[in-house]
Amino acid sequence: MKENWSKPVSPDKPAPDVFLHMRIAAFAAGLGEIGWSKVFLTPEFGPRVRFGAVLTETPLDPDPIYSGPKLCDRCMACVKNCTGNAISRTESVKINVAGHIVEWGKLDEHKCSLAFQGGQADVAPDGEQLKYADYDAKPHEYNPFIASPGPRYQYGRAIEGARGCIRACMMHLEEKEKLKNKFRMPFQRRKPWRMENK
Ligand code: SF4
Repeated sequence: MKENWSKPVSPDKPAPDVFLHMRIAAFAAGLGEIGWSKVFLTPEFGPRVRFGAVLTETPLDPDPIYSGPKLCDRCMACVKNCTGNAISRTESVKINVAGHIVEWGKLDEHKCSLAFQGGQADVAPDGEQLKYADYDAKPHEYNPFIASPGPRYQYGRAIEGARGCIRACMMHLEEKEKLKNKFRMPFQRRKPWRMENK
């Protein structure tokens, strides 16, 4: 651990060396639910959300856990549309958060990360497909952060993030009229794009 990495707000307090699981924190804060894709869904925006957190010692009254209409109906559109086949249709992870069982589909984070960066030939330039072959051969040795040509797990460079599970979920929730925030036009009006000659 690094010395003086983080500092307490006063000498009698611990240093804030914590790593928040933002989706679980969002669930505990009553903002919505975690979908089968493990993407967080809110009744206002569905999967189109990013969270930030502020650590404070101020006593605050907690909001209740979200108990509105169920958002994720296990349609499995996220599973079907993930180009990385990263989300299991049958296996799940279950945890208990403040007495509530929260469940999502088992996710292969390496496949998710790779697809997120464009590791699929029909949505990324030539050569990316090779990395899937590497992964399939040695899944335990495979590290997409090393194998990929540069740190592309970032918003500006992400391909799958808005192309696979999130977009499929958004379209499904829109079709089922589950979201309060609506577009004037359908979210998707054109055919999903593909690389040429793939
Ligand atoms: S696409 Fe369907 S199954 Fe997947 S998270 Fe959204 S609502 Fe749930």
